[in-house]
Amino acid sequence: SEMRNARVKRTKTVCTYCGVGCSFDVWTRDRHILKIEPMHGPANGISTCIKGKFAWDFTNSDDRLTKPLLRQGDTFVEITWDEALDVIEKKFTQVKKDHGPDALGFIASSKCTNEESYLMQKLARQVVGTNNIDNCSRYCQTPASKGLQRTVGYGADSGSIADIEQAALVVIVGSNTSESHPVLATRIKRSHKHRGQRLIVADLRKHEMAERADIFIRPNPSTDEVWLSAVAKYILDHNLHAKEFISQWVNHFDEYAKSLEPFTLEFAEKTTGIPQATLITVANEIAAAKSVCILWAMGVTQHCGGSDTSTCIANLLLLTGNFMRTGTGAYPLRGHNNVQGASDFGSMPNVFSGYQHVDDPNVRAKFEADWGCTLPTTKGLDNHEMIEAIHQGKLRVLYIKGEDTITSDANANDVGEAFRQLEFFVVQDINFSETCRYADLVLPASPSLEKEGTYVSTERRIQRLYKALEPLGESKPDWEIIQLIANKLGGNWKYKHPSDVMDEVARLTPSLAGVTYERLEGYKSLQWPVAADGRDTPLCYTEKFPFPDGKARFFPLEYLPPSEEVNATYDLHLNNGRLLEHFEQGSMTYRSAGIKEITPRTFVEVSPELAAERGITSGRHVQLTSPYGRVRVQVLVTDRVEGKQLYMPMNSIEEPVNLLTSSHTDRATHTPAFKETSVSMTVLPEQ
Ligand code: SF4
Repeated sequence: SEMRNARVKRTKTVCTYCGVGCSFDVWTRDRHILKIEPMHGPANGISTCIKGKFAWDFTNSDDRLTKPLLRQGDTFVEITWDEALDVIEKKFTQVKKDHGPDALGFIASSKCTNEESYLMQKLARQVVGTNNIDNCSRYCQTPASKGLQRTVGYGADSGSIADIEQAALVVIVGSNTSESHPVLATRIKRSHKHRGQRLIVADLRKHEMAERADIFIRPNPSTDEVWLSAVAKYILDHNLHAKEFISQWVNHFDEYAKSLEPFTLEFAEKTTGIPQATLITVANEIAAAKSVCILWAMGVTQHCGGSDTSTCIANLLLLTGNFMRTGTGAYPLRGHNNVQGASDFGSMPNVFSGYQHVDDPNVRAKFEADWGCTLPTTKGLDNHEMIEAIHQGKLRVLYIKGEDTITSDANANDVGEAFRQLEFFVVQDINFSETCRYADLVLPASPSLEKEGTYVSTERRIQRLYKALEPLGESKPDWEIIQLIANKLGGNWKYKHPSDVMDEVARLTPSLAGVTYERLEGYKSLQWPVAADGRDTPLCYTEKFPFPDGKARFFPLEYLPPSEEVNATYDLHLNNGRLLEHFEQGSMTYRSAGIKEITPRTFVEVSPELAAERGITSGRHVQLTSPYGRVRVQVLVTDRVEGKQLYMPMNSIEEPVNLLTSSHTDRATHTPAFKETSVSMTVLPEQ
């Protein structure tokens, strides 16, 4: 047994699932993943959830890609890396020559490391010469960042999970926190139960946090902006706002006050369905609380008004003086392990790392000097615009890394049509995903346990992961693949290790200036902004807001109704979200045996009222039809949903909810309005 123990290796890693950022040791022997042992990680202490603890089998799945694959007609053949790079060079160069650099597009992944996101945008900008680079936070959280950048400055959580724990009142809007961010939810549950923390939940669906809440409100779909604004107006009308804080720290008060005029209690009750008395209780509770944190997720962001509702949340917190202190602030809960970092490190069409704008000549000059190139001057296409540009024949080459776009973007049929039109399509992933079916070239990448790098969690916490296993077969870490491609195209990159990439980022990015691998060693972490001397920022805005005059800004808004409302043909509202056991479309978790056993398939939740009306019980199959596609799925009757609202977990490869969602998007960011979907339901004959 001594020999056996000698072969056991312990490696510190960071969870590759949600944005809470749990870290722990993974025990391995050869390629066997023996166990996960939490070691007092800064975000999770000694806790993990079921995914962090058990969902790692995908690393050794038989479906892992181990060689580059080239399309030949309807099938793929294995080729060598050299051959793969030759094909890329030929196609990228030809299309760039014939149609210019903007005929190429790049999509990075919020599953990958920060260093990989940085290199992907550098490949697009420096080597190819286009700003057509985006990442999959466009599908979830970009509206939250937008709302915060409009008002308080940083598109990120204002404080730490510790602040949420210490708040006197936590308000959760459109987030199924206990299933989507389990370890964070546990900390709220603890404070609520033992420390008298108050909890208000607003959601369409009565999930676990809603059941625990002191006040649970169920606004009509797509009306959060209305109740939030009505609450703000009530606070203002009753002189309950934080007058001193506002006069010292916030601009544009008068315009904001005026913009709230339409949001009377009568209008709010009529639009949201929430009784006026309840709105008054909520307003009084928020105004009276010593410290308030508001948490939100995709129930807010994935709407045509996603950015606006996120802005409303920040406005309300400013109105009540809930920034700059412990236990206060705005907390968009990041879904993936590195949603925050993918954008922080520049995989966006308008900004370099640290949100430095591509159209700022000084910023550009700095990158041009360091990278030795001339950079494009205007913002590139985001994910949504790239799909449109493919339809229009303007975008001809697409390189996607670590993103199963066909299942995760809205209106899958439309996206599939676009992919079929591409002249050359490279997909880089760990498994043969659904998106790979459309690819011309598939590149085998390595998952988190097989590489080094860093992630940024929801609380802006940068953490290192170490290599536990060697890359499987001929798969390679994404950063190595991007470097091979860059050099094949003449990039002359010389990164020996991801730490070399981080050194460059720190040199070029003021908000990450003091980040080094030494300062992140082991379980050490840093929360950005990080000053050059290494001082980090667990709580933002303690001295000022990051605008030239140091003040935050109220951002006035008007309410516009949703893009799709139920009508005579599509008479049911379809909502979607996560399941505890699974992650996203399930490409990793369905490949983890234990997880698949617990929840092998998806389902649609139907309210008891609707089930009675249609004469169905749990287990019956139905067909859901929207203007964009249809899905066959099994029914689960539950009072978690009410009336004519349905709910489908997004976690399914076989019955993807995105066959039903539309191409409508958030007005400010083009994030798809996944949550604004109307369908009809046909009961299928019993089998
Ligand atoms: Fe991983 Fe999130 Fe679960 Fe923590 S809470 S173990 S980060 S999935």
